[in-house]
Parts: sequence; C-alpha cells; structure tokens
Amino acid sequence: MPVAVQTEHVGLLHFESEQQMSTSTSTSVVPSITLGDGNPIPQLGFGVFQIPPEDTARAVDAALHAGYRHIDTAEMYRNERGVGDAIRASGLDRDDVYVTSKLNNSYHRPADARRAFAQTLSELAFDYVDLFLIHWPLPTLYDGDFVSTWKTLEEFQREGRARSIGVSNFQVAHLERLAAETETVPAVNQIELHPYLLNEPVRAYGEEHGIATEAWSPIAQGAVLGDPVITSIARELDRTPAQVVLRWHIERGNIVFPKSTTPGRITENFRLFDFELEPGHSEAIDALDRGEDGRTGPNPDTFAYTPA
Ligand code: NDP
Repeated sequence: MPVAVQTEHVGLLHFESEQQMSTSTSTSVVPSITLGDGNPIPQLGFGVFQIPPEDTARAVDAALHAGYRHIDTAEMYRNERGVGDAIRASGLDRDDVYVTSKLNNSYHRPADARRAFAQTLSELAFDYVDLFLIHWPLPTLYDGDFVSTWKTLEEFQREGRARSIGVSNFQVAHLERLAAETETVPAVNQIELHPYLLNEPVRAYGEEHGIATEAWSPIAQGAVLGDPVITSIARELDRTPAQVVLRWHIERGNIVFPKSTTPGRITENFRLFDFELEPGHSEAIDALDRGEDGRTGPNPDTFAYTPA
C-alpha cells in the first residue's frame, strides 16, 4: 500500500509508494460497468469540480496513488490541464485511466463545439477522451436546439476522439427528444443524485433505455453526512457516513466520482469494496428523498448560464 506523507502546500497528500504504482487495472477492486456502446467504465472515480487549476495535478496525483483510475473534469472547471499533467506524470498508461470531460455551455453551436472539443484535447494533451458529455441541455438557449450539439458529439465518436459520448443534466423530455431525432443513445446521463434527491424518473428512464446513470454531488457536497439515518448506519457498520452513502450508490448501480482535496478523505472515499449495506439500510436511505426540495444545484429545465 502507498505511504501517505502530508505536504505543506495545499494540505494534499504526497504519496511515496513502497511499490511502483501498478500500470494495470486488471487487479483493481473497483467494479467495471459496461456502457450501452460496449465500452467499460470504472464505477468509482474522482471528481475535480471546484479544485483550483493550480491544485488539480496534486489532487489527481493523490487520487491515482489511492487507486482511482477514473477522473471526471469539464471545460468549465478550467482544470483539464492539471488532470492531463498528473496522469502523464503518474507513469500509468493512458489507457489505464478513464477520463471524462464536458462541453462548455458557451459552445453548443456545432462549429463552436468542434473548436471547444479540440481545445479540451489540447488542454489534456491527449488524442482522445474516454467520455465526452454535453454538460447542460440549456433548453431555453440556442433556440432550444441541443440536437445539433449532440450530432456534433456523434462526429467526435466516429472520429475516435471520444470513445463514448453522453449527456449531463438531461431530463426525461430531453432524452426522449434525442431518441426521436438522433441515431446514438447517450452512453451516460450525469445528473444530480444523492439521498436527498433520488431523481428517480430520470434514473429509471436511463435504466430502461440503456443509459448509465452517473450521480454528481454523490454526498450532496457533504450535506447528507450529518443525517441521523446515515450516521446511525455508519455507526452500525463501523464506517464513515461518506462511505455509507457512496456504498449505497455503488449497490444501486450508480457511477460516482466524489471530490475531495483532503488527504484522508480521498483514501476514505475509495474504500467501499470491503463491506456491504445490510438488509433495510438501502430502503432507509432511499426514504430520505426530498424530491425537488432536495436539489442543491440548478434545475436543468431553467438553467441558462453561459460563462463569458
Ligand atoms: P461531492 O458530493 O463529491 O462532495 C464534495 C464535498 O464533500 C467537498 O466539499 C469535500 O470537501 C467534501 N467531502 C468529500 N469527501 C468527504 C468525506 N469523506 N467526508 C466529509 N466530507 C467530504 O460534490 P461535487 O459537487 O464535487 O460532486 C462530485 C463530482 O461530480 C464533481 O467533482 C464533478 O466531477 C461532478 N459534478 C458534475 C456536475 C454536472 O453538472 N455534471 C455538477 C457538480 C458536480 P474537501 O474537498 O474539503 O475534502
């Protein structure tokens, strides 16, 4: 196992491995999910939303040393470069790390999307991403046209520069429209999903139509961790609240990528595969659903933010 050493700078771990970091994923404890297009994705990854660009390589380095082999970034996070740098510096093969990025809201028109995707690959300094997503549907912008945007992502997949393509924050109506007007079923839909927002209609639509559900803010940015139901299960299992919630996601079949820049938490959030929830636990967590009141982020039907 790696030995963790605290650094002075941003409080992130610098790991000194007793052994070389394995360059093979074949021994990974993380289950792999086969997407509708046949490509595998590690069910647990590491999210880098809100990690400052200058801290990102260090955080991703810590995550890779802890065992994560799946990184979720986006053009809007402004930290794709740090992700690519850390993966290259790790000595791992490019094919051993699953990388997702997402199209910036400002670039939905096809010509802009092509430029933006080229920029993503340039920032990462990779010739492909494993998964590229439309970050938000923005149904009130671009004359409501996310279909031509999706057809542009189909081009990226045909060219081999995005091995899989998917969407994020798409509601059922948006998915139905893609199904009616385009050829390719999104491999994933990345949506807000945690114990306070089960987002069940969207998740269930995905399950019925071969679209894997990725759960963003899987611990609701910490908001669910003090819930008495969660803390009581954590005590019973001698696990942390975050581990209980992340394990709940794993057992429901969700793909998750918790974010942390705290050394112990990066490791803690990876340790999900040596225990299981007991009968009744999942149902008790499901019952915490607050519907729309549980949403912490914007509503995809009205969200219309485009960075300058
Ligand atoms: P998370 O639910 O992953 O929570 C992150 C927060 O929880 C941070 O404040 C972190 O603090 C804290 N935390 C992490 N682990 C623990 C722990 N074990 N115990 C206590 N606190 C903990 O939120 P995110 O919003 O970051 O979601 C995860 C990822 O999902 C993002 O990084 C991004 O990749 C993706 N995402 C996608 C969106 C989309 O629109 N498609 C929107 C939002 C997120 P600290 O860092 O200080 O340790």
